Amino acid sequence: MFKENAIIICENDYKNKLLKEFNENKVLLNVNFMTKKEFLEAYFFSYNEKTLYYIYRKYQFKISIIKMYLDNLRFVQNKNYNNEKLDFLVKLKEELDKEKLLIYDDRFKTFLQDKTIYLAPYIYLENDEEKVFKSLNAIQIKNDTNYKPVFAQMFKTIAKEVNYVCKRIAKLILNGENINNIKLVNVPEEYKNLLERYAYLYNIPINLNINSCLYGTREAKLFLSHLYEGKDNALDKIKKLNQDIITKIVNICNKYFFIEDMNDLKTFLIYEFKKTNINQNLLENYVELVSINYPFKEEYVFLMNFNIESFPKVYKDDSYITDNIKKMVNLKSVNEINKIVKSNTINIIKSIKNIVITLKEYDLEKKVYPSSLIEDLDLEILNEEDDLYESYSILNDKLNYAMKLDDYYKYGILDDNIFIYKNTYQDINYFTYDSSYKKIKQKIFDKKIKLSYSSINKYFECKFKYFLSKVLYLDNYKITFGALIGSLYHHILKEYLENKKDIMLLKEEYLNNNNIVLTKKEAFYINKIVKEIETDLIIIDKQNTYNTLDKRVLEKEFQDNNEHFILNGFIDKILYNDKEELVIIDYKTGNENISYKLLSSGLSMQLFLYLYLVKKDSYFNNPKIIGFYLQHFLHSEKICDKSPIEQKEANLKLNGYSNKDISLLEKFDSSFKNSKVIRGMKLKNDGNFYSNSKTLSSEEMDSMVFLVEAILNEAVEKINNNDFQINPKKVNNKDDVSCPYCPYKEICYKKDYYYENIKQEEDLSFLGGDNND
Ligand code: SF4
Repeated sequence: MFKENAIIICENDYKNKLLKEFNENKVLLNVNFMTKKEFLEAYFFSYNEKTLYYIYRKYQFKISIIKMYLDNLRFVQNKNYNNEKLDFLVKLKEELDKEKLLIYDDRFKTFLQDKTIYLAPYIYLENDEEKVFKSLNAIQIKNDTNYKPVFAQMFKTIAKEVNYVCKRIAKLILNGENINNIKLVNVPEEYKNLLERYAYLYNIPINLNINSCLYGTREAKLFLSHLYEGKDNALDKIKKLNQDIITKIVNICNKYFFIEDMNDLKTFLIYEFKKTNINQNLLENYVELVSINYPFKEEYVFLMNFNIESFPKVYKDDSYITDNIKKMVNLKSVNEINKIVKSNTINIIKSIKNIVITLKEYDLEKKVYPSSLIEDLDLEILNEEDDLYESYSILNDKLNYAMKLDDYYKYGILDDNIFIYKNTYQDINYFTYDSSYKKIKQKIFDKKIKLSYSSINKYFECKFKYFLSKVLYLDNYKITFGALIGSLYHHILKEYLENKKDIMLLKEEYLNNNNIVLTKKEAFYINKIVKEIETDLIIIDKQNTYNTLDKRVLEKEFQDNNEHFILNGFIDKILYNDKEELVIIDYKTGNENISYKLLSSGLSMQLFLYLYLVKKDSYFNNPKIIGFYLQHFLHSEKICDKSPIEQKEANLKLNGYSNKDISLLEKFDSSFKNSKVIRGMKLKNDGNFYSNSKTLSSEEMDSMVFLVEAILNEAVEKINNNDFQINPKKVNNKDDVSCPYCPYKEICYKKDYYYENIKQEEDLSFLGGDNND
C-alpha cells in the first residue's frame, strides 16, 4: 500500500500497528513516521528548551502558557492585526527570531523532495496546512467503509455495561480468539476501576494504560529534595534506586544543562517530571485500550461509553486563538473542526469489521443521552439485561448472588433471580471473610532483590508484613522523636571519633542540616541527652585503653552482591589491625539484646548479618573476627550496688559474642580476665571462660555465616515465588514477636491460627558446636 521512500504522518498507536504489520508480512520499506506536530515544526520552525527558558526568565509566564504561545506562533504573519492576542504573538515571534531562538531546518524541504507523504485517515488540517500538503502531493489514507454497525447496546449503569463487555471478551477468548486482537475504545478514567474489577472476575489480562508520572516516584521526589546540593549530589542520593527511572531523570536534566539557577531548574524539572509517564504494564498478552484512530483490520473492537459529550470528541472554543479572531489568521472555526472530526469518526466506525457498541443510560443517578452518532449511523438501541444463563465467571455469579442476599436480608427486597443463583450455587460462604493471602501469579521482581536487615527481619516476622511494606510500599515515613535521637547519637559519635569536634556544635550542625525544629520539651530532652553523650565518650575513651587495634572504619556500607540478591548494611564501627583481626560494633539507643537463639528462624539477625557482610565484602580479605557486639546508649538498666557512673560504665559494656581464642581476644580487651569492656566476660581460675562470657570459636562463627547465607537464599527464593502469606510468629507458643508494633494490624485481619510457633535454640548444637551461651 505504501510506496518506498515515504513519510507517514500519524500518532503512536497507528505507527506501532503499521510497524507490527510490516514485521509480520516481512515488508522492508524505507519509511519515516512523524506526528503532524513534528512535521509542521520541521517544515516551518520549532523551538527548544532554551527558547522556553528565555521566555520564562523575561516574562515569568507559567511553562504551560509559554508552550501555548509557542504552539500558536506559526499561525501569525509579520503584520499588525489590531488584536491584542495576535499582535502579542507577532511581537514574540519577532523577538525570538532576533534572539535566534526559533529553529529553522532549511534541509527539511530538500529532504521532502523525493518523498511520498501519507496522512493517517483521521488527521484534519487547517487551511494553510492543507495548502502545504497539497503542494507536496500528500495522500490522505482512506478507510474502506465496507461495514456498518446495526445496533448499539444500552445498559442501565456503567457497571452493567462493563460487565457485559467483559463477558463478551471472556466468551471470545474461550472460543479461541487471540487476546491481542481484542481492543477497547473510548474508555475514560471513570471506567477503569470497574474495568479492572470485572477483568479480574472474568480472568482477563488487560492493560488499562494506567501510567503514573515520573514526578510521583520516590526517585524523583528524593532527587528534587536534594537538588539544592547540586545535580551530581542529588543523583548520588538516588543511585541505588530504580535504574530505568534514574535514566529518565538524567535525560531530562541533560535537556536543561544550561540552567544555573537552582530554583528555575527545579521549576522546569517538576514540569517535565509531571509530563513524563512511566508505563507499568507487566503483561505480555492482553486486551488493549486504543483510540478510535487505531488502524483496525481483523480486531474485535468494543466501542464503549457511546454517549453524548463522551463520543465523538467535541472541541470547544477555548484555545488561545478563539473563533472570533480565527478568520484573521485563516484558521477553521470549532464548528468546522467538529464537523470534520465527526465525519472522520463515522468513516472509521464504518471501516471496522467486528465492532460492538455499548452505552449507559445513567451515570450514577444522572440520566445521560446516547451519542449523536446514533442518528448519523442510523443505529437501533437495544436495552440489554444480563443473561444469567450464560456465565463465564463463577466468582462474579457468587458476588451477584451475595449482593442479592444483602438486599434481601437488609432491605427485604426479594429478587426473582435469587432462586436461580440458589439452585446453582448452594454454598457461597455468605457472611464469611477469608483474609488469607492469595498468591499473585505475575512476576513482581524483574531484577535482583535488594535486602537489608530490616527487610529480612520483616519477612521472617511475617511474610505479609514484608509484602505490604516492600512490595506495596505502604510504609508511612514519619520521623519519630526516638528515631531522631538515634540518628543524632550516631552523627555525634561518628564526627566526634573522627574529628574530635565540640559535641554541642555537632548537635546544632545536625539539627540545622536536617531542618529540624524542636519544641521546648524536645530541646530540653535533647540537651540532656547530649550531656549524657559527653560522659559516654569519656567511658569509650577509657574502654579504648585496653585495646591495641589501631585502625578503625566508621559508618561504612558493606555489600554482598551475588547472583541471587544484593544485601547492604551500614556498620557503625569496626576496629582492626594490619593483620585484619577485627571487632564489629553496632550502636543501639534501645534495649535490644543479641542472641543466636532465634537465628535459625531468621529473626534478630542484625549482628549476624554484619558478621556475614564483613566476611563477604572485599573491603577485608578473609578477616579474623575477634568479636561482634552491640553497644547500648541511653540504656537504663539499674544495678543496685553501683554508683551512677559505675552503672553507666556497666551499661556501656559491649554486649555480644567474642572469639574464645585468648591470643586474639586480648588484642582488643586486655582486661578480658575480668573485663572492663565486654559484658559478662570473665575467666575462671582453671583458665576456662564463665558461661556468661558468650564465646564462640572461629569455626562456629564461620558456621553462623554459612547459616545466614542459607537463610538469605531461602528468603529470596520465597520472595521471588511471591510467597507472602500472613504468618506472624510466637516464640515457644507464647511471645508474639511479629504483631505488637506492626503498623498493618488494621489491614491484615489475622486469625489466631495464622500464627506459627518458633522454638528458641537453647545451645549451639544447630551449628554443630558446643553448648556455650
Ligand atoms: S499485624 Fe501481624 S499478622 Fe498482620 S501484617 Fe502485621 S505482623 Fe503480619
